[in-house]
Amino acid sequence: MRGTQARIHLSNFEHNIFQIKQHTLAKLCISVKANAYGHGAVHIAQKAVACGVDCLAVASVQEGAQLRQAGITAPILLFGLTLPDEIPDIVQWNLQPFVCDMEFIELLEKALEKNSDFKKAGVKYPVHLKIDTGMGRIGCAERDVSALALYISKSPYLHLQGVCTHFAVSDSLESRDIAYTNNQIHTFTKSIDAIKKQAVEPGIRHCSASGGILMYPHAHFDMVRAGIIAYGYFPSKALKTALSEGREKLVKLKPVMELTAPVVSIKTLKAGQSVSYGRTWTAQKDTRIATLPIGYGDGLPRNAAPGLHVGIGDSSYPVVGRICMDQCMVDIGKNSDVQRWDEALIFGPGANSQTAENIAELVNTIHYEILTGISARVPRIMVP
Ligand SMILES: *Cc1c(COP(=O)(O)O)cnc(C)c1O
Repeated sequence: MRGTQARIHLSNFEHNIFQIKQHTLAKLCISVKANAYGHGAVHIAQKAVACGVDCLAVASVQEGAQLRQAGITAPILLFGLTLPDEIPDIVQWNLQPFVCDMEFIELLEKALEKNSDFKKAGVKYPVHLKIDTGMGRIGCAERDVSALALYISKSPYLHLQGVCTHFAVSDSLESRDIAYTNNQIHTFTKSIDAIKKQAVEPGIRHCSASGGILMYPHAHFDMVRAGIIAYGYFPSKALKTALSEGREKLVKLKPVMELTAPVVSIKTLKAGQSVSYGRTWTAQKDTRIATLPIGYGDGLPRNAAPGLHVGIGDSSYPVVGRICMDQCMVDIGKNSDVQRWDEALIFGPGANSQTAENIAELVNTIHYEILTGISARVPRIMVP
């Protein structure tokens, strides 16, 4: 087994699910897109189902197929849009797509007409009507909601399983962002009313991701779609500060992933010797360098050094020189007790551990990108 590992602490995942459930009475959908934010889609999906979540969500048909092939039978929402030729696969894998326009709806109906399993089952196919209330990504305009909902409700093939939208700034505490989100909620509510006015049942109403779950309890409606909080992180620094720091710790999340790499070599350097490509770092005094078999090919961002530190034993040491594709080097000093085969912690759930947020800050991105960027060659080890 490779020494560089992402350990997935399933008990922390379960803890986070429990925290979410304490925040809402609505149904719970867990987003397992992008390999469950890098944590391993199949294992996380199985654990989520064991924790009693109501449904799962993916971004692509392929991600949904992977879960179905692993034997997962829970409802799976498909957040992302597809090409026409992927539509038969949506049906084959029984994914519940977001639909936003007539062209796609008609293509889906045609695919259903051709699908003999669907015809045999004799039930209508579930879809969720996605409304763009201000995200500007996918979704129908408010003015088109009524006609689309009515069409779906009359379709011999389709069932309006739900109606949904997505927030653009629900992770912000800026007053204009709060006003913007409340306006999105208002547009969503108006759209639901317009659907009901035509005697069409909107089904499951859902719009909140992690930000909405934490900050907008009046926007939970019938279901919430949790992603990042299930993996132990707040969606933004602002919410983390507001909810988990200070006197009142309202929400306690536990990071699920622990990224580690072993010390595979220790060498002594004389003052003046340089380390790595480009010779950007030179030892100022005699020291020792530990090499870790982890690099940007594993998802450790190349620009994280200089700045990045790793934990070995109880101490923290700087990564020096450029991070390579497969390796990086750590200055462990002349007299530390670091030994070959010791384990270096890149980030993890420990009380004093660095987190994916700290890595993200070093490279001016968000923790979502760090977690999803941990590449396929890093083995995911499930820790019960
Ligand atoms: C990714 C995604 C979510 C989950 O977002 P988090 O911020 O990770 O909670 C919810 N809904 C949609 C449509 C998404 O694309």
